[in-house]
Amino acid sequence: MIHAHRRDRIRRVMLDLGLEAPLLVTDLHNVRYLTGFSGSNAVLVVAPDAAGDVIGTDGRYRDQVVEQCPDLPVIIDRQTLSAIASTMTGSGAAVESSLTVADERDLRDRGIDVRPVAPLIEALRARKDEVEIDAIARACQITAAAFAALAQEIRRGDCERDVARRLEQLFGQLGAEDRAFASIVASGPHAAIPHHEPGGRRLESGDLLVIDAGARVDGYHADMTRTFIVAAEPEPWQSEIHGSVQRAQAAAVDACRVGVEARAVDAVARTRLADDGLGAAFTHGLGHGVGLAIHEAPMISQHSTGTIEANMAITAEPGAYLVGRGGVRIEDTLVVTDSGPRILTEAPRELVVVG
Ligand code: ZN
Ligand code: ZN
Repeated sequence: MIHAHRRDRIRRVMLDLGLEAPLLVTDLHNVRYLTGFSGSNAVLVVAPDAAGDVIGTDGRYRDQVVEQCPDLPVIIDRQTLSAIASTMTGSGAAVESSLTVADERDLRDRGIDVRPVAPLIEALRARKDEVEIDAIARACQITAAAFAALAQEIRRGDCERDVARRLEQLFGQLGAEDRAFASIVASGPHAAIPHHEPGGRRLESGDLLVIDAGARVDGYHADMTRTFIVAAEPEPWQSEIHGSVQRAQAAAVDACRVGVEARAVDAVARTRLADDGLGAAFTHGLGHGVGLAIHEAPMISQHSTGTIEANMAITAEPGAYLVGRGGVRIEDTLVVTDSGPRILTEAPRELVVVG
């Protein structure tokens, strides 16, 4: 029901844009959003008339697709796009940017007029419905609980990779279907690298320790970062940058309100960090949408052009990175409500000593 409803919404958007050709949906997150199908190969046709909707996949998913999409006609073919294209009666098709160059050529060879369209479905996905918010909230609760359990277990001498593995094991034990993305565990000087890949470095006393990870539930992602200090009281510079990031993050979260420009939210954190002398140390955007993809609309950065809307699920994740010394990032996933931000990754943000 919900998927048919979503397809009807996209149909209305297409009509409003005067798009009379069917839309070929090739982005797998979009396919899942519009059908519930979670396999790794699929093409969906959203036709101007609902009776023309059809999903294609291959034989690996013969049973799964029927189970997940009981309301849609199914085409099973290894050459999925070609098989779908051969059923199309009109001469045009709207396509997404995820269509491969080879598939686009195939369509043109069949005489189909290919028209790239703006990310229509991504724009709809930015505002979550209740089912989606519930799944994201569950993923976030599991994430926060796993961080709390992990903080009790971390010991000086553990290596980054083992800490990441243990956290992901906790996600599973707490009910997640998988991790949302490859966990970041960055210790000591590595904490200055925002997307550090955890390796064999062992935690040492006095390290700042940035852990950025999330669980996944029903296809929906959580995203959370906390910074810890290993087996020592923090030095003044560590307390200072952590305090600055924590204040900037709290202010940015509070700014996530309906009608505020996304780049103004970014500016709230950026200005505060700059006031504390950390402007150059904040080297990425403030945050991003979270849903069926770990990074999706809206992006929240200095370059954003959009506005914060109700029911967006977004992150606020300012950081400060001092090359060679360490860094701090604090990230929450939140949902924007009419009465303000509701944080879903509820967990302490202070600089906690572990190990
Ligand atoms: Zn993150
Ligand atoms: Zn993030």
